[in-house]
Amino acid sequence: MDNHHFMFLGAHISAAGSLANAPKNGASLGCEAIQFFSRPPQGGKPKPVSDEDAASFQTAMRDHGVKRAYIHAPYFINLASSENRIRHGSVAVLREELERGSQLGAAGMMFHPGSSKNVGRKEGERLVIDGLDRIMEGYGGSCQLLIEISAGAGMVMGDTFEALAMFLDGARRGSEIGICFDTQHAFASGYDITTKKGLDETLETFNALVGLDRLVASHCNDSKVGLGEHKDRHEHLGEGKMGLRAFELFVTCPKLQHLDLILETPMDEKREEDMRLLKSFRL
Ligand SMILES: [Zn+2]
Ligand SMILES: [Zn+2]
Repeated sequence: MDNHHFMFLGAHISAAGSLANAPKNGASLGCEAIQFFSRPPQGGKPKPVSDEDAASFQTAMRDHGVKRAYIHAPYFINLASSENRIRHGSVAVLREELERGSQLGAAGMMFHPGSSKNVGRKEGERLVIDGLDRIMEGYGGSCQLLIEISAGAGMVMGDTFEALAMFLDGARRGSEIGICFDTQHAFASGYDITTKKGLDETLETFNALVGLDRLVASHCNDSKVGLGEHKDRHEHLGEGKMGLRAFELFVTCPKLQHLDLILETPMDEKREEDMRLLKSFRL
């Protein structure tokens, strides 16, 4: 949370082949900030990050003018799973990703807390807080743990500001954990950020419950589904139910200038237009 004073714009990009390809791929899209998977998102053991790998990643960041890097945790993470194997595996992988992120000089690593469908909401919340404690136990790296707001499908946790606040308040080192916003997830969770009034009210609520200073980054995605429909479905900017105005408001909002914004729109040829639009809105 130290040097977040200027908004960098970027996208989730491929790190296929080598982690050092991520800054190069990001730069070719015009990214100032990048996000990538540092390991196979569906599962499987990653290749360890050697000192040499870390150095070539950081050289690639400099050479390609990319200012900030984020790691997105793999999809199978569930801190609230009823299965010990999945819960313990999730804690181990998230800690490993934090350590890998620290080696690479990444600013943060965002993850989705998971689903409480097999344990119930109350127990799920307890398990998430317990998981956060175990991930952070003895951690001394520089890559910040970030909880991402979810769209709240089924029993997916972390879809309300109240839930996020509970996680941060409940964890022993919660004051060191940040939040990754996602425009589509928030909209699908029922936060109408498509009008100035809606965005102002949403951020006021967020500030009262969580604190705007806890926001580190946000995913910038339009939504295939309507307000409060609780589905995680990204769309290109201006082509979904949120509309372009929502992103102009978001990018120009004075209260959000300390965030980095990351596109997670479909990985096709229209992403260049998404990137161009984001930049065109910037103050
Ligand atoms: Zn995510
Ligand atoms: Zn999503």
